[in-house]
Amino acid sequence: MTTELHHFINGQRVAGESGRYGDIFNPATGELTKRVPYANAAEVRKAVAAALAALPGWSATTPIARARIMFRFKELCEANIDELGEFISTEHGKTLDDSKGSVIRGIEVVEFACGIPHLLRGDYTASVGTGVDGCSMRQPLGVCAGITPFNFPVMVPMWMFPMALACGNTFVLKPSERDPSAPLRLAELMHEAGAPDGVFNVVNGDKEAVDAILADPDVVAVSSVTSTPVAEYIYQTGCAHNKRVQALGGAKNHMVVLPDADLDQATDALMGAGYGSAGERCMAISVAVAVGDKVGDALIERLTPRVAGIKIGPYNDPDADMGPLVTKQHLEKVRGYVDLGVEEGAELVVDGRDLTLQGYEGGYFMGGCLFDRVTPEMRIYRDEIFGPVLSVVRTRDYEGALKLVNDNEYGNGVAIFTRDGDAARDFAARANIGMVGVNVPIPVPVAYHSFGGWKRSLFGGVHMHGAEGVRFYTKLKYVTSRWPSGIRKGADYVIPTLQ
Ligand code: NAD
Repeated sequence: MTTELHHFINGQRVAGESGRYGDIFNPATGELTKRVPYANAAEVRKAVAAALAALPGWSATTPIARARIMFRFKELCEANIDELGEFISTEHGKTLDDSKGSVIRGIEVVEFACGIPHLLRGDYTASVGTGVDGCSMRQPLGVCAGITPFNFPVMVPMWMFPMALACGNTFVLKPSERDPSAPLRLAELMHEAGAPDGVFNVVNGDKEAVDAILADPDVVAVSSVTSTPVAEYIYQTGCAHNKRVQALGGAKNHMVVLPDADLDQATDALMGAGYGSAGERCMAISVAVAVGDKVGDALIERLTPRVAGIKIGPYNDPDADMGPLVTKQHLEKVRGYVDLGVEEGAELVVDGRDLTLQGYEGGYFMGGCLFDRVTPEMRIYRDEIFGPVLSVVRTRDYEGALKLVNDNEYGNGVAIFTRDGDAARDFAARANIGMVGVNVPIPVPVAYHSFGGWKRSLFGGVHMHGAEGVRFYTKLKYVTSRWPSGIRKGADYVIPTLQ
């Protein structure tokens, strides 16, 4: 029996009307479990119209009233974390603890959004001129939209809509068609928390729904997190329609290991950051850069038994380190990259391509793979694989490692492992990358800082959540007032200056 999902528009579940659907499978078993309706332009229009109708009322609420609704939403997310985790794991495949951890990281943004009365405070200066005062204020943009990927179906939408709503905007979310159940549940919880009808809507679908969002004149801002070609498309199309756009893209994150690093600590870091969530994280480490052959040999020696020994299992196996990949197609793509790496001449030290789990023969499982002697020309180095495949690249020295990182087209995250403070400081300053870790393999900023990469990992410049989130979802206004109004100066034909 497959369950049929819906959209969430104007405070209610709405059945799909387009007649187009996508199948959702449990990645651990390969079973078809649900089907999700794909919205057409008319259905997207309904969601945008609902958001537009809700806008005057919602944007006129006080920031403290919106903060209180956010606080109730946070409590509801916490109370329903088991259900949200189950939705994520049965559609994405990752282990239950990992799913729930990602919900907690999302809730942290909601906690930050609860501080919106303080965050929206403007500046005021009395007497910018004689009898003249100046103040700045941040006002909401209007109807905002979000387009999100499969790998964090709760956390990534939560980078966006809690900030947008707290700032006084209304929102239309188009989540990934691979795992939409958890984001649909978030819409119900937001409604239960007190968000009026139309304030937060979810439309499911594929490119057709995205294109309808991008072309809709009533959508004023778009936040997206996707693969890089889609990010570039969303950015260019959204800008062509005069929208404010922040479009986060793919990644190829390096971890540089210097000869003085604690190699056991570096190995632990590579295991978690390379293979956690089966490598399906935009901040996963996919390249270990060993500075010098001695470091390269030592890392391979330590990593080989660890990678071969990763415990792989379904999401509800408490001993599993890693679950299956999200879909059969993605499993085939990742396996194809491992085949390609062998053809390109990289040394496949651990081969996890053929793995069958007893009782889960239909699942999309593969084991961890480890390549040594990968070079920068190889496609397995250049392309984002998004699977449990770690490549070791060897460089002669620190400058070579830094050049490798900076020459890469992506600029999401990077890490350096060293005990040398001078090297770490130099690296943090010169890495052409948005998020840098020093002895921290996945340097994801906490909710009250902002998340975002550089180069082809982010189009549009502005990072998500934290202060940047407030900046993205508001427009700045400056008001200059002269009181008392009775002061008469006469006509002034010269530009006023501070005298
Ligand atoms: P994807 O690009 O296939 O899809 C992401 C979203 O874009 C989905 O909602 C999908 O429906 C939509 N989409 C897909 N093709 C489209 C098209 N041609 N036109 C318009 N919309 C389209 O990505 P995915 O496989 O769901 O997620 C993995 C990707 O997301 C990886 O590249 C990963 O690095 C990236 N990601 C980046 C970050 C970050 O912070 N930079 C975070 C998470 C994921």
